[in-house]
Amino acid sequence: MVCIRNDKCRRLLFLLLLLLKGAALLTLLLPGGAFYLLLVSGTPGASVLSVPAFPAWRSLWDPTDLGLVLAWIAAQALLAQAPLGKVTEGTPLRDKARLQYRINGCHALGVTGVVLGAGLAGGLRLSYVYDHFLQLAFAATLVAFALSLLLYIKALVAPPSALAPGGNSGNPVYDFFLGHELNPRIGSFDLKFFCELRPGLLGWEAEVRGSPSLAMVLVNGFQLLYVVDALWHEEAVLTTMDIQRDGFGFMLAFGDLAWVPFLYSLQGHFLVTHPHRVSLPAAAGIILLNGLGYSIFRGANSQKNTFRRNPNDPRVAGLRTLPTATGRRLLVSGWWGLVRHPNYLGDLLMALAWSLPCGLTHALPYFYPAYFLLLLLHREARDERHCLGQYGLAWGEYCRKVPFRILPYVY
Ligand code: NDP
Repeated sequence: MVCIRNDKCRRLLFLLLLLLKGAALLTLLLPGGAFYLLLVSGTPGASVLSVPAFPAWRSLWDPTDLGLVLAWIAAQALLAQAPLGKVTEGTPLRDKARLQYRINGCHALGVTGVVLGAGLAGGLRLSYVYDHFLQLAFAATLVAFALSLLLYIKALVAPPSALAPGGNSGNPVYDFFLGHELNPRIGSFDLKFFCELRPGLLGWEAEVRGSPSLAMVLVNGFQLLYVVDALWHEEAVLTTMDIQRDGFGFMLAFGDLAWVPFLYSLQGHFLVTHPHRVSLPAAAGIILLNGLGYSIFRGANSQKNTFRRNPNDPRVAGLRTLPTATGRRLLVSGWWGLVRHPNYLGDLLMALAWSLPCGLTHALPYFYPAYFLLLLLHREARDERHCLGQYGLAWGEYCRKVPFRILPYVY
């Protein structure tokens, strides 16, 4: 009661209530929004403002499609456990321990490609994925809910040292959404690391999207590059916020298993029913934009990952750095001297390049860059808060030396 009368406490309580409501709302809104956009994409007008007819719930449920989703995840889990590729260590945890991770994403991609190729030669129809898109998305959503529930229960018996810095509010809805445990594992099998890149990212590229017009080739080519790049540099995921700081709950599970494979491919889905002719000069411009975005994205992520793993590596040893009280240094030249989040800038340029082949007549294919901009702005604010807390005055000095966050001279 004393606390409620205190202004600061009241504000905190209000914020907490807002967060709890937000978590519950988002748990329903994210899947709802995803289905809405997929339905709109299949309508002749493809207008986000005209509400599409919602199919009967029973038509979304198909046990075969649930079986396919589960079989896909199981096959990728087996590949992830196969004794192929190297084993590497993650960054130190709070108790200074380092977890081990098997890095074999490229092997999994190769094996998946060969098996799918053999299947296609044997008469496998990948257009099944397009025809059952909604049912497969529904099944993936159910799996994400079930996994999040299991993760929540597992976290209840995990030791405090295994819990994520956030997501431990004690409120079941909030913790279910954000994730309780940092690195949930079954034996040596790391559930979060596996879901980050394997079932969703590989599934994203396993879809077939109609006749290969130039627009379709561009969209699929760009996205294939993104997927292959992520698996090629799989180790770099270990120094991202998702792995280092965020708990594994509904937000990441639904994102990895349903949102990424089914919504990130919205441009391709849209092009099947709304073909668009791209001229050669326009295609050249779009390819250049994607190339620029990719160079910044890859250059920045690799530079930071190399530096965090070994600051004396010859590829980064010549860069200027800033000491911090924690003993860790911050890069202040190279990509990280251009803006404070150069990897986000590159990612956003690529997101735009993936939508431009769909033309400018519809807003729907631009959902991805619009949503991604909001996501990265929120993520950037979250990271700035975290870095200010972690590095204090040194972070202030970095902000003075590199004043722009994402876009030079603008933001
Ligand atoms: P980052 O990989 O940018 O990690 C941020 C961390 O990097 C900071 O907390 C800090 O951690 C370290 N850092 C920041 N500045 C410096 C510096 N100057 N020198 C050295 N280290 C620094 O964040 P994300 O995990 O958000 O993003 C990783 C990639 O994933 C990005 O390319 C992003 O675009 C992409 N992404 C893609 C998504 C998608 O849906 N397609 C979703 C989310 C991200 P510390 O100092 O503790 O090491």
